[in-house]
Parts: sequence; structure tokens; C-alpha cells
Amino acid sequence: MTLRADVVVVGAGLAGLVAARELVAAGHDVLVAEAGDRVGGRTRSRRIGEVTVQLGGTFVGPGQDRVRRLARELGVTTVPTHHTGRQLLRWRGRLRSYPGLIPRLAPLALLDLDRTMRQFEWLAHRVPPGRPWLAPRAHRLDAGTLESWLRSIGAGRTTRELMAVVARASWGCEPGELSLLHALHHVRGCGGFSPMLDTVGGAQREHFAPGAHTLAERLAEELGDRVLLNAPALRVTWRRGEGVTVHTPRGDLGGRRVVVAVPPALRRTIVFAPTLPPRHEQLAQRWPQGVLGKVYAVYERPFWRARGLSGQTLADTGPVSSTFDVGRDPLGPGILLGFVGGDHARAFFGLPAAERRRAALGALRALFGPEAGRPVGYTDHCWGAEPFSGGGPTAAVPPGAWTRYGPWLASPVGPLHWAGSETADRWGGFMDGAVRSGERAAVEVRAAL
Ligand SMILES: Cc1cc2nc3c(=O)[nH]c(=O)nc-3n(C[C@H](O)[C@H](O)[C@H](O)COP(=O)(O)OP(=O)(O)OC[C@H]3O[C@@H](n4cnc5c(N)ncnc54)[C@H](O)[C@@H]3O)c2cc1C
Repeated sequence: MTLRADVVVVGAGLAGLVAARELVAAGHDVLVAEAGDRVGGRTRSRRIGEVTVQLGGTFVGPGQDRVRRLARELGVTTVPTHHTGRQLLRWRGRLRSYPGLIPRLAPLALLDLDRTMRQFEWLAHRVPPGRPWLAPRAHRLDAGTLESWLRSIGAGRTTRELMAVVARASWGCEPGELSLLHALHHVRGCGGFSPMLDTVGGAQREHFAPGAHTLAERLAEELGDRVLLNAPALRVTWRRGEGVTVHTPRGDLGGRRVVVAVPPALRRTIVFAPTLPPRHEQLAQRWPQGVLGKVYAVYERPFWRARGLSGQTLADTGPVSSTFDVGRDPLGPGILLGFVGGDHARAFFGLPAAERRRAALGALRALFGPEAGRPVGYTDHCWGAEPFSGGGPTAAVPPGAWTRYGPWLASPVGPLHWAGSETADRWGGFMDGAVRSGERAAVEVRAAL
């Protein structure tokens, strides 16, 4: 079977679906080839009894204008993330609670943290969004890791460990794996640490009422039978000036242009004929996905709220290094979401299911007391084991990659265009970045057509 369209989109995550939607709106024929048996990519839901939880992308906050606009257009509403009450910090074997955003640490440790974050943000502010290789002293910033930079400025142990908690949840890696330039660019694209990390006024402020996966499902409904599931792009044959053919097990899809909307690391799973230019080919080898997973525990009631706790926690031990209360109803059910990232995720997701459950609930018990060990429902999910995501939440880009390969991350090759959250200039790695990248790719393709 050969189907023809103006444009073939590879990947039905938010980026690919948004690119397809924009192109259809501009009057083009579009086909979308999706490898999996569902749309949504790194947004995905799962039922635990009567409760639906989000295994991937969940939260949305101020500044994420594109995904918020898309949600409005699709009739998807948001609800605030519960945040009232005291936060918990489990640090060096002690449990402390604190109000507000600043963890209860020794005054000297807090001063060190503040100084480090200011220095980081000062550097981040000088990194041009979308073009970090043009930052002053970019090669130097890209030569080391976040960890080596923290040590070079004499950041104390507590600061380094808190940055590790941030790295695990934000990039699914340890600070020693990540290019400093990448970390700076990522934080710059969010507008700073506060917009990126906070619940009140930050990226965790709200979540989509029916779940983030609904965005992809509604986009796919609009696109109808243009979306082909179980159709992994195995091979893409292309010629400058002559268009492309995307070969899938469901048939060949021919078009004048293709938008490849898969995480950069997964571009390597597709055979391009002729092969891509060397820098594009090499780039995909240097843009690895992080390893992040989630655990969810469901309780009859959010019992921690009655004790004046917000459900938000930070811990220096694994497997769960941060939690959120994502329940809606104060009467229940209570839902705790825990992040397991980086080295914790590598160890945790190697365990059998029963041991994972024991370890995760043990971590929640250490924070919230014995009741946390008796949920009515539990689930966990490892994105590192998803063949068509390759990990998550986004890429953990190592030193040297941005300055050597960055300019080729989103640059078209003949009729081949690239989308995906990792290619976004702002909110890269977030759902908002995915939407931005899909819109940008659609603009490029429209201009080319
Ligand atoms: C645990 C976790 C938590 C997260 N939390 C948040 C959050 O709270 N807020 C937020 O904004 N973001 C969050 N994110 C990130 C967000 O989910 C992603 O940035 C976004 O969904 C990426 O969309 P995308 O379209 O760029 O890529 P993807 O969603 O990865 O889509 C790529 C699509 O391509 C398909 N594909 C792959 N290979 C092929 C092939 N060869 N042929 C055809 N199709 C292929 C895949 O199946 C997939 O459907 C989280 C992610 C994870 C994993």
C-alpha cells in the first residue's frame, strides 16, 4: 500500500500532532505515522481503580502559553495543584517540615544554596534561547558537567545534593551526567529556577483536569484517519527537491516533506537513505534520554492534609526524591505522586514489581507515617523501558554536544524537518516545548511548500 500526502509526520506525540494540525489548518494533506498503538508519546494515563493517573507529562504553569492556548482550543481545562500546608524535608536521616518554598536547612547551607542559584541564573541569563552555542564562553560551559561546576564554585554538600534532586526530576539524570550549558539553557528556557520548580506561581501550578493525555487524544480525534497507529517509520528515503517516502509495516507514505517528531535519540532508530549528513547522524548519538519514572499511591483520604501537610516533599535518599499531592477532592481519594529519577531510577526499575512497591511505599512511610504504607492502589512506571520514548522526561545532554552539534538539532535537511520538545527554544523538554516545536516545524514546512 502506498498513501500520498503533502506532508508525512513521524510521531504522534504532542509535537507531531500539533505540526499536523497546523498543516491541515493551512490546507495541506497530512499523514501521521505513529509507532505505538496509542497517541500521546510521553503523555499517557493509567487507571488505578476509579482513579486515572498521568504516567508522563502532567503539570502546567505560567509562561507555558502555547500548551495552555492549545488546551483552551481543545476544551481541556486545568485544576490547581494542591499546595496548602507545610512541606516535608527528609534530609540526613531527619524529617523536618517547613512553610513556604525555602527548605528548612541550616542558615549557612541556605546561604550557600542561594549564592549558587544566583550564580547559576546569572550564567543562564546570558544563554540565548534556542542557540546556547552562541552564549559567551559556550565551549567552556559545555566542557564540564553541572556537578563539576558546582564543585568548581565550592558549592557545599547540601547544595550539591539539592541540585541532584532537581537533576533527577528535571532531566532524569545525576548532575555529573549533564552538560552545564544544557542545564543553563534548560533553566533559561523556563525563565529561571522559580518558574521551573515551584508549585505556587511555577510550572507545577496546575494540571489538566482530564489528564494531559487528553490533549493528544483530542488532537488525534480532529485529525481522524490521517493518524496511522502501529506504523513505526523504519526507513525514510529522500532526495533533495524530490520529496520523501516513509516506509512503515503498514505501507509506504509518500510526501513532499516529512516532519520527524521523535526524541533526538530515537532518530537513530530510523534508517535514512541516503544517510543524513555527518553532523545530523552523529547528533542523535549524543542526545540521550534521561531516566525518570513515577510512582503513585492512592488512599481513601488525603490524610496528610488533615495534619497540615501539602504533600510536597524532598528527600536526599531514594528511591522517591520528591512528591506532590495530585488529588482533587479534600474528601478523597488522596493521591501521592513520587518522582524516581537518575541513579535511583536505574536501581529501582531493575527490581521485581513487589520489591519496587515495597521500596516506594517505604519511602512514602518515612515521610508521611504508617498510613502511607497502606494505600488502596499503587502503580509505577519506568519511561526508560518504553521503546518509542527511550526514557524521559527529556534528554540529559552530556558535555560537548550542544557546541558541536546544537546548530543541527532542528535544521532541516532537504525535505526533512525536525520537531519534538527537545528542539524548542523555550520550555524545551516540557509539553509546552513540544507544542512550540510542532508549530515551528509547521511554519517551516508551509514556507517550503
Ligand atoms: C515521567 C515524565 C514526567 C513529565 N512531566 C511533565 C510535566 O509535568 N509537565 C510537562 O510539561 N512535561 C512533562 N514531561 C515531558 C513531556 O511529557 C514531554 O516533553 C512531551 O510530552 C514530549 O512530546 P513530543 O511530542 O516532543 O515527544 P513524544 O511525546 O516522545 O512523542 C514522540 C512520538 O513519536 C513516536 N515514535 C517514536 N519513534 C517512532 C518511529 N520510528 N516512527 C513513528 N513514531 C515514532 C512515539 O511513540 C511518540 O508517540 C514529563 C515526561 C515524563 C516522561
